[in-house]
Amino acid sequence: MFGFELDFSKETAAFWRQKLDLAMIVVAFMILGLFLRVVTGQKATWYAILEKFIGAAYMGGALLASLILPYSHKGLLLFLGYWLYEAALFAFLPCKIYDGIPLRRYGKEDSTYSLKYKCNGLKAFILTLITFAGGHYLGFWKMSIIHDNFAEILNAVNLVTYAMCFYLFFRGYFVKDAVFTGNALEDFWYGRELNPHIFGGSFDLKFFSEGRVGLIGWVLINLSLATAQYERTGTVTLPMILVNVFHFIYVLDYFVVEHYIVSTIDIIHERFGWMLAWGDYVWVPFYYTIQTWLILYADPVHENSTAWTIATILTNIAGYTIFRGTNRQKHMFKTNPKGTIWGKPAKIIETPRGNLLISGWWGLARHINYLGDLLLAISWGMPAGYRWAYIPYLYFVFMLGLLLHRFARDDIKCQLKYGEYWEKYKKAVPYRIIPGLF
Ligand code: NDP
Repeated sequence: MFGFELDFSKETAAFWRQKLDLAMIVVAFMILGLFLRVVTGQKATWYAILEKFIGAAYMGGALLASLILPYSHKGLLLFLGYWLYEAALFAFLPCKIYDGIPLRRYGKEDSTYSLKYKCNGLKAFILTLITFAGGHYLGFWKMSIIHDNFAEILNAVNLVTYAMCFYLFFRGYFVKDAVFTGNALEDFWYGRELNPHIFGGSFDLKFFSEGRVGLIGWVLINLSLATAQYERTGTVTLPMILVNVFHFIYVLDYFVVEHYIVSTIDIIHERFGWMLAWGDYVWVPFYYTIQTWLILYADPVHENSTAWTIATILTNIAGYTIFRGTNRQKHMFKTNPKGTIWGKPAKIIETPRGNLLISGWWGLARHINYLGDLLLAISWGMPAGYRWAYIPYLYFVFMLGLLLHRFARDDIKCQLKYGEYWEKYKKAVPYRIIPGLF
């Protein structure tokens, strides 16, 4: 299956659990550190050093993974074929073009520009699913192909992403508006351009990479693992179906309102470097499917109790309602500030740099959207149950770290942007993520 034999024996599982337990102690300390940083609002020096260390460890680990994982031309061709297919759909599928919100040039805060966004992701997503399933039924490939070539594909994606990041790094020397911080590693990690365009300037590489390859790939991996479960056991269990459906809804939702992404931090503020690119291409599809792997390998025919299944679905609905409601409200507010929020005119704090919304979801906590994401993360682990301790919840642990880190960075960024108005906002909306609690 993997090109090398994977050992799923109890002894090996125990060995890796021991290693993972140690890693989790380190992660727990890091999350505690992040939590303290969010509470104190300080960017402590020790944390800045740790942050760099974690970044370097991630980048080094990814390179090391490519030395360990098997390489095959097939894996590389499968990935490149898929990338080109998605790129062609992105470039040629007709769609509505959305105006982006004003973007600021690095170091020239008052010089703004905006881009246009080709939001044909929903069509691309549906066409890809039809192609993937159609090829299976017509006998061109089996949907379990990703599962069967998993390590080779992972390696190929990793290598191609690294190559793309080097390209982006060196491209910075030849384009306008590239950022040079004076620290090459930092430039490699965060990237040098906010919106690199390739193929003669017509192809927005960041916008494309944010959604198409990784998010659609995430759903394809899930489908492939479900097919593999069917091939191995003759059945597809409810936990497997639930994980597939939950992830599918999340990705479908992204594409239904793909234009909302134009007001997210990734599009407005993050440059396109290793952090975003590797996250989009490698981390999202391959790490977010951990629960699906567990369901397939740890106990492939296990079904959960009815009570647990109902709790799983309710947690998912709660998370989704908050996640969608908050992001929708913010997007509506940014694009139509005179619109209503929960049937009433929006309450705002006026600032010279754009207004801040303080009613609706955004009046309950400053980052209540992150609460939605965290509930979703828990619900995605729940189908895999509690039989492997925290392992099904590794995605939740990661999300907690990511969102606390994002919170801290965003708080500093907004403080710089809005100044005294941000303090006013913090007084008007005192809770950070969980209303009444934190
Ligand atoms: P937000 O959507 O919370 O964006 C924060 C930005 O919104 C701020 O920098 C500020 O930018 C603006 N803003 C903040 N508060 C207000 C307000 N009250 N009124 C008006 N504008 C405000 O964060 P993200 O972009 O990080 O997240 C978007 C979604 O994506 C979230 O739900 C997040 O959880 C999710 N996500 C999921 C990930 C995953 O891997 N599953 C990864 C990352 C995010 P401005 O300068 O425009 O004012």
